[in-house]
Amino acid sequence: MNDYSLMIHGGAGSLDNIKDAKVAVRYLEGIRTVLEHGRTILSAGGSALEAVEVSVGLLEDDPVFNAGCGSVLNEHGRVEMDAAIMNGADLRAGAVAAVSNITNPVHLARLIMAESEHVMLIGQGAMEFARQHGMPYAVDKYFHVPERIEQFQRARKGQQLALDHDSPDEQKYGTVGAVARDKAGHLAAATSTGGIVNKHVGRVGDSPIIGAGVFADDVSCAVSSTGYGEDFMRTVLAKTIADYIEFTHEDADKAVAYGMEYLVKKVNGRGGVIVIDSHGNCASGFTTKKMIHGWIERSGDTHCRF
Ligand code: ASP
Repeated sequence: MNDYSLMIHGGAGSLDNIKDAKVAVRYLEGIRTVLEHGRTILSAGGSALEAVEVSVGLLEDDPVFNAGCGSVLNEHGRVEMDAAIMNGADLRAGAVAAVSNITNPVHLARLIMAESEHVMLIGQGAMEFARQHGMPYAVDKYFHVPERIEQFQRARKGQQLALDHDSPDEQKYGTVGAVARDKAGHLAAATSTGGIVNKHVGRVGDSPIIGAGVFADDVSCAVSSTGYGEDFMRTVLAKTIADYIEFTHEDADKAVAYGMEYLVKKVNGRGGVIVIDSHGNCASGFTTKKMIHGWIERSGDTHCRF
């Protein structure tokens, strides 16, 4: 097969904040631009690994998404980000958790994969590794976009006033992720996030956890998750979906349907996934009202949806 596939997501949730048509267009434009960048890489014979790293890096640079410069704030009003990348050809992976001041956590995850003997580095250790390798370092202000400060203040206020009325589905989970299959038939996946608004300091979600928020294996599929991370960690959802394909030989569509059913049945989980199987089939599913996502299936047209 001489074709390629690419899928990206920009988070799942109720997205009730996207009633304004202009905002909706802004999100979809962001997704479309990144897909076209990815198309350039993959159509020229670039690797799936490069395509997912570049795609997620671009989403991290777009402040409307909850990753990189647009990351949500934790309970102390600071940014702590998680990211991971995985190569389906040899199961190599790199991940970072609870890092601050790193402009592109996905690039740091790739660096860890390439230059260290480890899969995951966290906090200060990860940031020290980044400095040693000359990674760009940004001051706090770079991450403090006005919308995130307002959102954080609303979350703090809501929690004080209405703990018992907490309705997590009204929150947007805006993690970003990408999965790809290149012309050589190799798969890769990457996920990056600022986590959940007003989260506990030091809280790590599913995004950097191999098998929960990200997974890629050439024999089955590539998966990136978004949603309430604890649900995806407890169900090891990305690996559950990959195992389903490996053991049943079903396609991405069936695997996503199985995965969503499993997520609900086991933990009543909230969120969604994007999946590309080893044949280049693209599939997505979510248990929230919406998920921002887009795809190019087997070198075809570009599609973007909520
Ligand atoms: N899964 C992410 C986390 O729990 C949040 C998200 O997808 O928006 O950190």
